Amino acid sequence: MSHTVLVQWTITPQIAPRPWLACNRCRTTRPFATSGKTRLNANGRRLDAWLIYRCSSCDSTWNRPIFERRHVSDIDQATLHALQNNDGGWIEKVAFDIDGLRRDAGRIEEFAEVRLQKTILKAAVEPAQHLEIALNLEMKTMLRTERLLSMELGLSRKRIAMLEQAGRISTAPSGTNALRRPVKDEMRVTIDLASEADRNAILSRAGP
Ligand SMILES: [Zn+2]
Repeated sequence: MSHTVLVQWTITPQIAPRPWLACNRCRTTRPFATSGKTRLNANGRRLDAWLIYRCSSCDSTWNRPIFERRHVSDIDQATLHALQNNDGGWIEKVAFDIDGLRRDAGRIEEFAEVRLQKTILKAAVEPAQHLEIALNLEMKTMLRTERLLSMELGLSRKRIAMLEQAGRISTAPSGTNALRRPVKDEMRVTIDLASEADRNAILSRAGP
């Protein structure tokens, strides 16, 4: 029998990273946002695919290569199907693929806005004393763990620091400064609330 409430937080980033590029028309560096559209070009059996971005000021476009001059037999069916049908979910994954974007753009602006869905996976035996949060990340975000806990559990950063110093917050995988790094998929955060007077309020904010 466990006095731990286990919840799952599914985090979906809301704004795709924006490359800052030299815009020919604006004659300066501007943020470019994804248009959510791709272009597929065939040259014999070789294909090019791009994700189209637009300058935030003048609508000039930038084509971010997804692949270039690739033989049709080297492209998996799911990718080809997604490109031919402008699959919104697939395009979104490419737009949020910051590592891929880094290959083609120097400066990238990232955003911390996320949508959060909370589910209780396992209720606790009363009295509930511990909270365990399983994080599920659909795409990378720069949102820091500490900020997420602060926003969602209503804990000040000072209080989080005190809990951390007292050894009452732990993360798995662990690591120095894990709370000050961006949240990671499949990360778990455990908080010992046994001696917190307002633990019921904190626990109710952890759930849906
Ligand atoms: Zn422009």
